[in-house]
Amino acid sequence: RNHRSRTECRGDINRLNISFLQLYQSLIPPEEEKEKQKQLMALLNRHVTKEWPGARLFLYGSCANSFGFSKSDIDVCLAMGDAEVDKSEILLKLADILKSDNLQNVQALTRARVPIVKLMDPVTGISCDICVNNLLAVINTKLLRDYSKIDVRLRQLAFIVKHWAKSRGVNETYQGTLSSYAYVLMCIHFLQQRTPSILPCLQGMERTYKVDVDNVECSYFDQVDKLQGFGSRNNESIAQLVWAFFSYWAYCHDYTNDVISIRTGSLISKREKDWTRRMGNDRHLICIEDPFEVSHDLGRVVDKHSIRVLREEFERAAEILQYDPNPCVKLFEPY
Ligand code: ATP
Ligand code: MG
Repeated sequence: RNHRSRTECRGDINRLNISFLQLYQSLIPPEEEKEKQKQLMALLNRHVTKEWPGARLFLYGSCANSFGFSKSDIDVCLAMGDAEVDKSEILLKLADILKSDNLQNVQALTRARVPIVKLMDPVTGISCDICVNNLLAVINTKLLRDYSKIDVRLRQLAFIVKHWAKSRGVNETYQGTLSSYAYVLMCIHFLQQRTPSILPCLQGMERTYKVDVDNVECSYFDQVDKLQGFGSRNNESIAQLVWAFFSYWAYCHDYTNDVISIRTGSLISKREKDWTRRMGNDRHLICIEDPFEVSHDLGRVVDKHSIRVLREEFERAAEILQYDPNPCVKLFEPY
């Protein structure tokens, strides 16, 4: 039974396509939410440019990378031009300014790993986190959005995987499971690896986009309009891909030796990265290389306990997709 499930998927897998596509459609944010986000950004922009004329605001994270669900909070980055600024000072100042304009629950969290100001806008109902000079996140947001324009199956797969992770409680970095960002990287890697491939490796192509951020050179091919139809030689359906994704992480991935890397479009070895043993708090039990900060393993939050939880969840999902009479219900059952 196990052997079969590793290699060959159930014959009636395609009857799941409709349910997966319906789920995907139901999670896409409606246009009016985008309008509200723009409205809030315009308000924030007025305050920011009045105080710091050289500064700029960028949206990043799921509200801008195309992998955001309806009713998500928004992530905003305040880019100060000067890299050497005192972030705490700026955030405290920003919080004061915003408090005086009727925004609610304004709080400066200056001691967090990524220091932010949190707030809620009563007019649009949107909550938002604002950080300072986190430009790599702005660039990786663009990379993810560019990948999503190449083949719609990426956005569909990532929505389903994120929805599964949120339903099953394995999208909580503070509990040692993975961030949404990590899950999207896993989906991109997976689609790069299909044969024929469904996604190219943008960082392995001609560099049409190039910026230097915090001493990291970020460059890749960003003329993705020219890559329309890239994946069309592969006609795998969304149901087949969801099945294969979970089956890969349940039975095929070599957790002992391999690092997934969308930067190279392939697997690389832990030994090559010197990620073979625990270093401080980084245990490298599941290795996901950041596309730009290549010394950064998105799996570093995962510990001895949570790796078991994660792998059991991957196996559970794979088993359900293979054998359950009603997988689309069972897969997303709350834990
Ligand atoms: P969600 O829909 O769950 O809010 P999200 O895409 O906003 O998803 P988060 O994990 O909240 O995902 O991360 C927000 C953004 O911050 C990511 O899109 C990414 O740009 C950046 N980011 C998050 N975690 C990391 C990390 N460990 N290293 C680098 N960038 C990260
Ligand atoms: Mg977010």
